[in-house]
Amino acid sequence: MRVLGKTYTVSYLPPEDMEDAFGICTPSLQTIDIDKEQTVPEELDTFIHECLHAIVRGMRIEFPNYRAEEAVVDRFGAGLAALFLDNPELLKYFQRLVKEANNG
Ligand SMILES: [Zn+2]
Repeated sequence: MRVLGKTYTVSYLPPEDMEDAFGICTPSLQTIDIDKEQTVPEELDTFIHECLHAIVRGMRIEFPNYRAEEAVVDRFGAGLAALFLDNPELLKYFQRLVKEANNG
């Protein structure tokens, strides 16, 4: 997956390989690991959450500490997941805009 010019490898792993986390973003290795045994809504939240960590790193957004980054990423991840779940047609709209942007 591309995130701001970097290629991240996304892996779906069993919970025992996840260090007690639902997702792990490692920008230095350009990897995102996702616990493959979550519910669908949890997986959506986790996937967005880990992408937000990659974006934070890619845009060099600074936080006073990792805990502060985690608090912001956690809320935006949950908020965006809820937005997509509550508005399925939004993804079709994005898909159209992305298609037009890439063709134009
Ligand atoms: Zn996190």
